[in-house]
Amino acid sequence: MIKLSEKTDCCGCGGCSNACPVHCIQMKADAEGFLYPEVDETACIDCGLCERVCPVLRAGEDTPFPQAAYLLQYKNEKVRRQSTSGGAFTAIARYVTDRGGIVYGAAFDENLRVHHTSVTTPKGLQIFRNSKYVQSDTEKTFTEVRSHLRAGRLVCYSGTPCQIEGLLSFLEPAKVQKNAQKDTPEASADNMQTPEKHDPLLDNLITVDVVCHAVPSPLVWERYLEMQKQKLGTGIADARFRDKHYGYNYSTMTLLDENGQERYVQGIDTDQMLRAFFSDICDRPSCYDCAFKKRYRKSDFTIWDCYPVYAFDKKLDDDKGTSRVLIHTQKGRLIFDEIRQRCKVLEVDPDRLTAGVKEMFHSVSGNPRREEFFEDAACMESQALFNKYFPMTAKVKLERTARLFCYRTGIYAVAKRAARKILKKD
Ligand SMILES: Cc1cc2nc3c(=O)[nH]c(=O)nc-3n(C[C@H](O)[C@H](O)[C@H](O)COP(=O)(O)OP(=O)(O)OC[C@H]3O[C@@H](n4cnc5c(N)ncnc54)[C@H](O)[C@@H]3O)c2cc1C
Ligand code: SF4
Ligand code: SF4
Ligand code: SF4
Repeated sequence: MIKLSEKTDCCGCGGCSNACPVHCIQMKADAEGFLYPEVDETACIDCGLCERVCPVLRAGEDTPFPQAAYLLQYKNEKVRRQSTSGGAFTAIARYVTDRGGIVYGAAFDENLRVHHTSVTTPKGLQIFRNSKYVQSDTEKTFTEVRSHLRAGRLVCYSGTPCQIEGLLSFLEPAKVQKNAQKDTPEASADNMQTPEKHDPLLDNLITVDVVCHAVPSPLVWERYLEMQKQKLGTGIADARFRDKHYGYNYSTMTLLDENGQERYVQGIDTDQMLRAFFSDICDRPSCYDCAFKKRYRKSDFTIWDCYPVYAFDKKLDDDKGTSRVLIHTQKGRLIFDEIRQRCKVLEVDPDRLTAGVKEMFHSVSGNPRREEFFEDAACMESQALFNKYFPMTAKVKLERTARLFCYRTGIYAVAKRAARKILKKD
């Protein structure tokens, strides 16, 4: 059965819990708010399936194969505005809803908790748009996906790289017999050499992962919402972590009330949740040693941001958002040919598209104050907690003033480009 010696050994995908034939694994939140499997050992029948589906135990090498790469802007401007970057996810998901399929992604529930859920209509896709910088609970979606695939339905599943590898591993468990773990020559041969046969069940599955910086704690997100409700004196019905209120280059956290009114708009410089995200103070432990940071993936598509779009094509540089799309499979290429008429696309050399994308290859560094932060999160009042770690100092206020000045005078994109050059980000 699954036994975690270190918290870094579990990305919280929920695959083991979905797979257990006797349902003796529950995903339970730890003191930091992250989900981990808890096994009822009295009910365990020692079948070993949980280990065979675990993507962390099966994480592979970054082994090259041919890829295709594009920049993409979805032509429907309303959709692009709602999307984090250029709307690549919607373009792919529409292929599925148009064919009567079902699409899974990360959305808010009625309490703004982030979880995976599904929709079947183009309109429904809206709930998935905009990245939520919080770990999403996959719940029992892996089991649902398997049922849909068995019924012959087209399914698209989107998420972080570890969630996608978790799903694929759940659908095709490692061909390792429980007794193969014994150290006998026969067992080792069985373990190492059984070829993984292609499962036709997967033909109807389309997987989309993101380039993933890391995922912060759901508990910290809950504390942030608590603070904002108190400060704003209103309920919060929706949140956008990457709103384009001031354009794509200066994205904001935007909070909306029950009437859909914007009640709060603050940029990545001042908003305390975004500052927590980018400081890596409250990420899942596995994100500091991520087994899924690589270019050659098992998904069909990898999508992510493209701020330096000007370096590829100046005509696409409109500050409304551009996605990078890396296609790993033949299935992905065929789908892309079908969806491209809804988008502006530019084919790019895959080496060029991925060059210098550090979040694709390197785990985030630890924050020396992480332990202290979570100790405080357990006992401090929310506003005091965020003010202690992310105070509104004169430097922060000055940065906001400078950013707003650049935005209002129309030089934000130029100033950001210069800053990226100085910081050698491009
Ligand atoms: C946690 C996280 C970290 C990221 N880090 C980076 C980064 O460092 N660099 C970079 O260039 N891009 C990063 N991205 C990707 C980027 O934010 C966009 O998702 C990407 O540009 C695609 O944009 P879009 O316009 O197609 O997406 P949208 O239409 O906005 O679609 C969002 C997609 O992201 C999925 N999603 C949203 N929130 C979550 C979540 N919490 N967990 C799992 N899936 C989620 C949805 O299911 C949907 O598939 C990250 C995304 C997430 C979710
Ligand atoms: S070994 Fe089998 S029965 Fe035991 S926890 Fe794992 S999946 Fe469940
Ligand atoms: S990574 Fe997924 S499958 Fe592995 S132990 Fe964690 S929740 Fe279970
Ligand atoms: S950084 Fe790695 S472990 Fe963390 S959520 Fe992203 S893919 Fe998963």
